[in-house]
Amino acid sequence: MKKLDPPYPYAYFEGKVTKLEKAKIPITVKAFQYGQAIFAGIKGYYEPVSQTVNVFRLQDHYNRMLDAVKIIPFKWNMSYAEFKKIITNLTKKNQVKTNCYYRPNVYSADPTIVPTFTRANDQMSIYMQPLGEYLDTSKGIKVMVSSWLRTPDNSISVKAKVTGLYVNSSLAKYEATNNGYDDAILMNPDGSVCEGSGANIFMVKNKVLYTPPLEANNLAGITRRSILHLAQNELGFETQERKFDRSQLYASDELFFTGTAAQVSWIKSVDQRLIGNGKLGPMTRKIKDLFFNIVQGRDQKYASWLTPIRVSK
Ligand code: PMP
Repeated sequence: MKKLDPPYPYAYFEGKVTKLEKAKIPITVKAFQYGQAIFAGIKGYYEPVSQTVNVFRLQDHYNRMLDAVKIIPFKWNMSYAEFKKIITNLTKKNQVKTNCYYRPNVYSADPTIVPTFTRANDQMSIYMQPLGEYLDTSKGIKVMVSSWLRTPDNSISVKAKVTGLYVNSSLAKYEATNNGYDDAILMNPDGSVCEGSGANIFMVKNKVLYTPPLEANNLAGITRRSILHLAQNELGFETQERKFDRSQLYASDELFFTGTAAQVSWIKSVDQRLIGNGKLGPMTRKIKDLFFNIVQGRDQKYASWLTPIRVSK
């Protein structure tokens, strides 16, 4: 696995921007004891000429956090304007000069012992991390079908990015990397394909682009939605949100993950079976090129997907 750079030195914590090392919570809080926190992962693409960080689909991430606090009953009603202001201030304070990743959390800082949601001391924090490539998007990744099944939505909501839920992803990623793979594909209890440990999955078969529907225990990925939109509206591909199973994975023509950190990461093999001819497939290539053009601010038509933050004064 690639080593990541250390986080940026300033974070948002308990209502203000502070040094990251001061952003500490007591061991008693429910966020630590019971995994009572939700998170977002937001990517900023740094453009060195104008010294601007272009944040990808910021409002969509905020909206998904609002959905999450409806599902997981946290008291968090910050406006989008306030959220955007904090992201902007933090970016400037950290003097960001790399592609980066924002990690907001809404969490329970209540220290009482009963495992319920008290809504007594819910807080938001944000820290930032330099982030280039999370998975190698250039040479194709090797994945395995995990022996761990995805936690179904009727056990813990998979739509809310609950920190505690990510033990499921961690088990799958740990198993995969210990076996020499880059990542894992998690299956659903019904035998259908769910997603990666931290990314949605797409499959191409006979020129049709498939991805599991949102009823398949997966996250409603913002990249997933962006790729479906681009495939349909810009590339003219036939797309279907439909369940598929393990055998269809092995026999697919092209396979790739999508996500804020994963971006568009194409899959070279699953369980050591080559996908297609083991090379970047033509439909994935088109999707990947278009996606990177947009996030790097080279496609005016999709400028509204980016929130520019000028780092220098
Ligand atoms: N599935 C899971 C389990 C994830 O953690 C992520 C990353 N947030 C995704 C899918 C991709 O979602 P998005 O495109 O919104 O980052």
